[in-house]
Amino acid sequence: MIDLSKYTKELSNLFSTSDNILLICHINPDGDAIGSQLALYQYLKSIGRNVDMLAPNNLQEFLKWLSGADLINIFTQDRKKCRNLISNANLIVMLDFNHPGRLGEAEPYVNESDATKVVIDHHLDPSDFADVMISDPSKCSTSELVHEIIAETGKKDFITIPFAEAIYTGIVTDTGNFEHGAYSSRTFRIVSELFDAGIDKDKVLNLIYNNFSADRIRLQGFAMNQRMVVLPELRTAYIYLSKEDLKSYNHVKGDTEGFVNLPLSIKGIDFTALFIEKDNFIKLSFRSRGRFPSNEFASAYFAGGGHRNASGGEYFDTLENTIQFFLQMLKENVSRFDEEV
Ligand code: 5GP
Ligand code: MN
Repeated sequence: MIDLSKYTKELSNLFSTSDNILLICHINPDGDAIGSQLALYQYLKSIGRNVDMLAPNNLQEFLKWLSGADLINIFTQDRKKCRNLISNANLIVMLDFNHPGRLGEAEPYVNESDATKVVIDHHLDPSDFADVMISDPSKCSTSELVHEIIAETGKKDFITIPFAEAIYTGIVTDTGNFEHGAYSSRTFRIVSELFDAGIDKDKVLNLIYNNFSADRIRLQGFAMNQRMVVLPELRTAYIYLSKEDLKSYNHVKGDTEGFVNLPLSIKGIDFTALFIEKDNFIKLSFRSRGRFPSNEFASAYFAGGGHRNASGGEYFDTLENTIQFFLQMLKENVSRFDEEV
């Protein structure tokens, strides 16, 4: 756990003296990326700051209901405006990622910018790519960290419904509704404040989790039934979906979210992988239980990273070759299931 008071003065100073503040989350933004971004946006607006938001690519449907989500500029949809926002910013705050590669197409423009850069994140092993690096892997989510930063930096009692819903969305999605990740008694103290502020938790959970199309549920059934391979001797299960498979279930962005978690509930399975065929590469997601460092596996072989128990990467080959390579590398790393941490 880091001592936030070290950053308090510098951050409040940056917040109050920067004329144009730009908040940027990671590519393929999840609930925590968007939740932490919107929460910080709500706070900075409340203190009268000029703030814009940018995401490298579009949001998934289940996040678009959040208050302010329609104000997020999407780099791949309006490159010119986004490049201008980056070059006009005096302060760029990057949320929920530990490596500049997660900026997608925005990366070179952010690198070039001479704005003061701040990172607020909870992933392990951050690269040093900002002037102020606030990185705390003991937090379950960047949203939890943003909540604490605002409590330290700003008005301790700042809370509005849009702010509380954004923080709650980040915490709930990054912990799989309090099933995994670094949530703690501190997390629940924050959640109790959000409830006291009057958020409708059932509404939020319904909008996040009970918002699927029938096709998505059918795709899940197909994936588990026809595309899941269980390898008990390797304590691993994996799922693969081809472009053809996705097309036949009218796949839309976000439909495969969560699939990778499901085989972890099989007895004896401690590592899961999901392979999704894209236009010219394979996107991988990994989950592990216990010690297996899925993030190190992702970064060593699949140009990726993430958390020990939840990570991802990519591989530029066919689905079949990617799975072959994955299995080879897994066999070489099987001793790591019992690695001392
Ligand atoms: P998901 O499987 O939900 O897409 O991603 C889980 C976590 O893995 C993300 O929160 C992120 O930390 C990490 N992750 C996923 N894909 C990548 C990737 O391509 N590169 C890196 N560095 N991290 C990734
Ligand atoms: Mn996160």
